[in-house]
Amino acid sequence: MSTPDCLFCRIVAGEIPATVVRETPTTLAFRDINPKAPVHVLVIPKEHYADVATLGQGDPALAGEVLATAAAVAEDEGLLGDGFRLMFNTGAYGGQEVFHAHAHLLGGAPLGPMLARDLA
Ligand code: AMP
Ligand code: ZN
Repeated sequence: MSTPDCLFCRIVAGEIPATVVRETPTTLAFRDINPKAPVHVLVIPKEHYADVATLGQGDPALAGEVLATAAAVAEDEGLLGDGFRLMFNTGAYGGQEVFHAHAHLLGGAPLGPMLARDLA
């Protein structure tokens, strides 16, 4: 279930502090420590999955609960009117740094192009 040396499992366990904005029996949402937008919240399943691919294939219902929590946080943060971005960085090409599945919920200002650069 929980992986002891995983940063986000340790946040779920309360061993590392986080600014939690929403908690459900199966998910946790907390503010990113290095925000890239006025609102930048990470939404995770409490159970350890390395990335969204293993989460989505291993427990689709839990993946749906992560989306529901992200939507609830988007509503709480006042993002539904102007919109937001929900992003799962995955693996090396995706730039994933923490290998516990997490959605980045970003909003509060125009977020610019989807990617830093276009295909050449
Ligand atoms: P990713 O590159 O998609 O794996 O994103 C990992 C995210 O976790 C980055 O945006 C980091 O700023 C964020 N992060 C790392 N450590 C913490 C922490 N202790 N609390 C909250 N966010 C964190
Ligand atoms: Zn973990």
